[in-house]
Amino acid sequence: MSWFKRVEKGIVTPTEEKKETPDGLWYKCPECKTVATMAEHKRLLYTCAKCNHHDRIDSAEYFEILFDNDQFVELDADMTSADPLHFVDTKAYPQRLAATQKQTQLKDAVRTAHGQLEGLDLVVACMDFKFIGGSMGSVVGEKIARAIDYARQHRIPFLMISKSGGARMMEAGYSLMQMAKTSAKLALLSEAGVPYISMLTDPTTGGVTASFAMLGDFNIAEPGALIGFAGPRVIKETIGKDLPKGFQSAEFVLEHGFLDFIVDRKQLKQQLADLITMLRPTEVAAPVATTRSKSSARS
Ligand SMILES: [Zn+2]
Repeated sequence: MSWFKRVEKGIVTPTEEKKETPDGLWYKCPECKTVATMAEHKRLLYTCAKCNHHDRIDSAEYFEILFDNDQFVELDADMTSADPLHFVDTKAYPQRLAATQKQTQLKDAVRTAHGQLEGLDLVVACMDFKFIGGSMGSVVGEKIARAIDYARQHRIPFLMISKSGGARMMEAGYSLMQMAKTSAKLALLSEAGVPYISMLTDPTTGGVTASFAMLGDFNIAEPGALIGFAGPRVIKETIGKDLPKGFQSAEFVLEHGFLDFIVDRKQLKQQLADLITMLRPTEVAAPVATTRSKSSARS
């Protein structure tokens, strides 16, 4: 006979008497369940010390990681969305926007900024997943298009950090038009010879993958990021087959030739600095004077 016997089954503490652990002190990795202090988690740029799981972060954290001394000028900071379709789902779209803006302290799902990375000028557009799933509506498209124009006019390299569930259904066709607009602006940037680096983070899907996210001179990604167009469940149901292991992970996408490299967030700033130095638009070199030697003009 055991020395301890459970008399009642299960946990019987009523919900209202349960003690909550205060938020913001500890971080538990969702992959390997390792616990670390928030301070340590932040010091490792929100990656796990044990399994290197990259936690999802927002534009504020990326700007802090990338820009020297967290100094930058935000572009088009006050642009907000209209409601051209008078869209209503469980809430009217303007109400949903207002509630999300209040909750996230963001105006829409992307922020664009000009700053310096290791002393090199850089324009960054970074998406925020917590704003309606990082969905691409008119404001996201327009802000990215304007940031690309700004980069082209000032001849500054452009970095896009994507994190999106795809098109914003509340803007339907207007959302889809952003794919064409941003892609056309990137074509102009390319023609002007200004570098474009696209970084895909967890998750990058839908219309974002199908437009600007895959158009970089370099397409790079964070480890383990989900990258795809349609989600795995939809694909599985459509093709009626099981999907290969690791399908749509950054590593799988790299292996199949759609990415140039995967970058650990702790090396991101240095690797971007190296890449930008290598790609930096140079002044048009003066034509090299060719002098024909006398001996070759003999005939
Ligand atoms: Zn972990």
